[in-house]
Amino acid sequence: MLKRLRLATSTKIATIAAIILASVACFTHATAYAAETHGIQIPVLNYHSIGVESGNTYVLPPDEFARQMAYLAAQHYTPLTLGDFVRIIEKKQPSPPKPVLLTFDDGYANNAEVALPILQRYGFPATLFLSTGAVGQPGYLSWPQVQELSAAGWDIAPHGITHPHLPKVSREQQREELAESRQVIEHELGKRVDVFAYPYGEYNADTLKLLSELGYRYAFTIQEGWASSNQSPYKLRRLVVHEEESLEDWIQRLQRAEDKTARLKKVMS
Ligand SMILES: [Zn+2]
Repeated sequence: MLKRLRLATSTKIATIAAIILASVACFTHATAYAAETHGIQIPVLNYHSIGVESGNTYVLPPDEFARQMAYLAAQHYTPLTLGDFVRIIEKKQPSPPKPVLLTFDDGYANNAEVALPILQRYGFPATLFLSTGAVGQPGYLSWPQVQELSAAGWDIAPHGITHPHLPKVSREQQREELAESRQVIEHELGKRVDVFAYPYGEYNADTLKLLSELGYRYAFTIQEGWASSNQSPYKLRRLVVHEEESLEDWIQRLQRAEDKTARLKKVMS
């Protein structure tokens, strides 16, 4: 009886040891798999308006924005310029330990009036995807303000002229939106740009063809997830920041690479 018990125990220990060994092997394999399969990954935060407008998910209160930037600084994140982002994604430049790209869409006046001073506290650069047709309209940046952002180290890149739903307009209209918004920015700032962000995150097959024809290198969507060197260069993902989200939930999204579920599944299998 005693002997049988001892045998059962040692079998149990052996089984447990085998399980532990298997999971360690599996985890090591999974980590290597993630690095090879998912390439270089960078979280890209997407902001719009920094102000107070209750009920609008795209208008983030200034104190909330300030808390998020303070968190990035305290946790030693390195916000990138658009140029750094591209060189890192293309493996032409090593990545700092905790890279992040801060992007603003549309071109609200409060980006210069409210967001810029907060970012300057930490010396953080940002990228503005500008709808050129809105410049000078009430509530939107003026060209002198766009110049100010550019002089402060922001990258200014096109987001179309009229903020259209690109798949709903003709191919010729799409061409105009993609080509002219870029020309205006290059003319006003005297810098070359070849990265686009889709208004509403929307595109179709024509949009992708036009981007290529016009010599754009990258385009950002609003599909949830980290941007990765393994994504199509015209389908880079971003993390859209919403007004109603708590700081804790924002931190969770910032820290979670898109492939975590896949990696977890791999570990489990
Ligand atoms: Zn937009």
